[in-house]
Amino acid sequence: MRIIRTIEEMQRECRSARRAGSLGLVPTMGALHAGHLSLVRRARGENDTVVASIFVNPLQFGANEDLEKYPRTLEDDCEQLERGGVELLFAPAPEEMYPRMNALKPQTMVDPGAIATRLDGASRPGHFIGVATVVTKLFHIVQPDRAYFGQKDAAQLAVLRQMVRDLDFDLELVACPIVRDSDGLALSSRNRYLSETQRRTALAIPKVLRSLRTRIELGDRRSPDLLRAGESELGQKSGLALDYLAIVDPDTLLPVPEALPGALVAIAAKVGETRLIDNFIVE
Ligand code: AMP
Repeated sequence: MRIIRTIEEMQRECRSARRAGSLGLVPTMGALHAGHLSLVRRARGENDTVVASIFVNPLQFGANEDLEKYPRTLEDDCEQLERGGVELLFAPAPEEMYPRMNALKPQTMVDPGAIATRLDGASRPGHFIGVATVVTKLFHIVQPDRAYFGQKDAAQLAVLRQMVRDLDFDLELVACPIVRDSDGLALSSRNRYLSETQRRTALAIPKVLRSLRTRIELGDRRSPDLLRAGESELGQKSGLALDYLAIVDPDTLLPVPEALPGALVAIAAKVGETRLIDNFIVE
């Protein structure tokens, strides 16, 4: 695996890889776990060359968020990516990606519009502008045939699907299933912030999703009823602050009145200072 730090070299390497065959991109912020590696495995199965990126994108963090303390484990990440069969790793410094940062913002940004203000975008203003901007840059640098994202970040997927359509990116977005720990908690780089007690508290998140799934399977599909039941289940949990519990259209992120097949049931909550998200699609 080659580790590449500059945009110029990355563009050169990707240009020559594209001449040899198809190219799959797995964008990450590092601190890799089995969720990330499932994306790499899928990309490995579907492309001639697999490219991963590790970049903790300052543009998608709010002023009071965890940019400084976000886990950075490059050496270990490299070993895992190498074992996963990645050929090229793009790991640029922030100054390489944003050399013209002006008042902490680059001059050109990609604004996905209203969709970027829903779900996580409502609680994290500007977050999806940061995501859309960095992903646009990665798409331009790598020009992949396919790009792999996790269903765990369902709102991010919706924003990026819209962006790919609106801006005519010539690539396929591939959504990959959520990978969970044996206790049911969705894997996340942020899980390592949790104390043992907090981790037990966090298990209320997958648990409430399981209860909602069961209710839906039993025919209880009205969103207001489901949300009320979910919120009351979580209301009893101390140490957990619900950000949102929502039943929405997975493409627009707008609320739907009933949890019909295809609807997205999504949750975000803070356990201590750690913000966790999870979801499922109604079958
Ligand atoms: P991150 O490093 O958190 O930005 O995540 C990079 C990619 O990995 C994103 O597309 C995430 O949706 C995906 N991802 C993160 N956690 C999981 C998980 N538990 N299962 C599947 N994909 C995941």
